[in-house]
Amino acid sequence: MTFLGMPAGGGNLTGAPFPEAAREALGNSQLRRNLAKATGTIRAKRANVVGELPDWEALRAAGAAIKDDVLANLDEHLVRFEEALTSRGTHVHWARDADEANRIVADLVRATGAREVIKVKSMATVEIGLNEALAEIGVHAVETDLAELIVQLGDDRSSHILVPAIHRNRTEIRDVFRRAMPGVDPALTDDPRALAEAARRHLRQKFMTVDVAISGANFGVAETGSLVVVESEGNGRMCLTLPRTLISVVGIEKLVPRWQDLEVFLQLLPRSSTGERMNPYTSVWTGPTEGQTSHVVLVDNGRTATLADPRGRAALRCIRCSACLNSCPVYERTGGHAYGSTYPGPIGAVLSPQLTGVERNPTLPFASSLCGVCYDVCPVAIDIPSMLVHLRDRVVAAKRTTPESTAMRALAWAMSDARRWRRLVRLGKFGRVASRHVPLPGWSAARDLPTPPQQTFRDWWESR
Ligand code: SF4
Repeated sequence: MTFLGMPAGGGNLTGAPFPEAAREALGNSQLRRNLAKATGTIRAKRANVVGELPDWEALRAAGAAIKDDVLANLDEHLVRFEEALTSRGTHVHWARDADEANRIVADLVRATGAREVIKVKSMATVEIGLNEALAEIGVHAVETDLAELIVQLGDDRSSHILVPAIHRNRTEIRDVFRRAMPGVDPALTDDPRALAEAARRHLRQKFMTVDVAISGANFGVAETGSLVVVESEGNGRMCLTLPRTLISVVGIEKLVPRWQDLEVFLQLLPRSSTGERMNPYTSVWTGPTEGQTSHVVLVDNGRTATLADPRGRAALRCIRCSACLNSCPVYERTGGHAYGSTYPGPIGAVLSPQLTGVERNPTLPFASSLCGVCYDVCPVAIDIPSMLVHLRDRVVAAKRTTPESTAMRALAWAMSDARRWRRLVRLGKFGRVASRHVPLPGWSAARDLPTPPQQTFRDWWESR
C-alpha cells in the first residue's frame, strides 16, 4: 500500500520505453560485441571465486537476512545512524526526493564558493541528476572513477552499474580522451596503460586543487555512524581525504545495523561484482577527518514507497554488485541505455518502476525473459523473476479497461462541463426507456434498475 505523501522517485529514473530503446541498441553490432566480451569475462571470474567458498549459500542467506532486518526496522536504524553521525560532528540532511537532495547539495557547495567539485563514483548522485543540477548553478563536477570519467568526457550515459563505460572498447576510449581531455597528448594510443596514465595525470591535478568532494556510500553502519566506500582504483580515497568539505549522498536503504555485518557484505560484494576475493580499496570514515567539514544527505526518492509493497520491497536489499546485469541475456544484447534509467539490467527492471511508480515505467517489468539467472547469482538472493511477474500484474491492473472504469471515465467527461451535464440529465427520459429494455446481465439479474424521474430537479427548480 502506498500512502499519500510518500515521495515518488524523480531524477534519472525514466527514459524512452524499453522496446523502442532496445530496438535501437540491437541494431548496433559493435555494442553487442563489446558487451558480450566484457560481461563474459566478468561472469567467468565471478563463477570461479564464488565456487571457492563452500559456505556461499550461507553467506547469501546472511546477507539477505541482515538487509531484511534493516528494511523491517528502517525507521529505528536511520535514527540511530543520524545520532551516531551528529555525535561525531557530521551534519545530517534529509531529502524527500531528487529535487530536494540536489537543492541541499547545491546550497552546501554554493556556501563554500567552489566552482568545481570532485566526485567519488556514486549511483545515488547519478540517480538524482546531481551533476546537471550543479551545472545549473555554475559548478562543474569532475568524475574521478575512470569509467565514469570516460562517460562524462564522451558526453555519454552510463550503461552499467559498476563499469559505466562497458559499451566502449579501448579504441573508442582513446578517441574520447583525444577529443575531450584537456592537455592530452594528441598521439595517445589505445594501449590500456597509456590510457590509464593519461587519466591519472588529468585527475592528479584535480585532487591537488579542488576543495569540495561529493561521494556516495556502499554501506552506512547504524551503530557507529560510519560510511564505507569500496572501489578498485583508489581515486575515491583521494576524494574522501584531501578536500576540506565532503558531502555524501546516501540512499536510506544503504544501512547495515552493526559494524560486524560488514564482514558478510565485504565477502559478498567483491566476489559478485568484479570476481575478486577482496576489493583493492575499502575506505571507512566515522565523522570528518581533521580540518574537514562533513555532510551526509539521506535520500528517499521513492524508497519509502517501495518499502510499502511487501512483494516488491526486497529490491531494496540490492548492494549494486551488478552480477545480475552480467548474467542477463537481455542486458547482454541491449546494454544499459535501453533501460532508460540509472539502474539497468534485471535490478533496474524491478527497482526503477517501484521508485517512480509503475505507471511512469510500465515497460521495464517486461524487459526480461524470466530465465531466473539473475536470482541465482544475486548475493542477497533477491527473487527478481517473481518480482517482475508481480510488477507486470500491477502494470496490467493499472491499464485494465473494465465496464466500470469506462462508465466512470464517461461520467467524468459529462460532469466536467455544466451545459453538457444539463443536456444529458434532460435525456434522462431515455433512461426510463432503457431501464426497461436494455439488458444489463450480472447487474440487473440481482437488482431493480432505478427508473429516472419524469422531471429533473433543475427543471422543477426553474418552473417554480
Ligand atoms: S539485484 Fe542482486 S545481483 Fe543485481 S545488482 Fe543488486 S545485489 Fe547485485
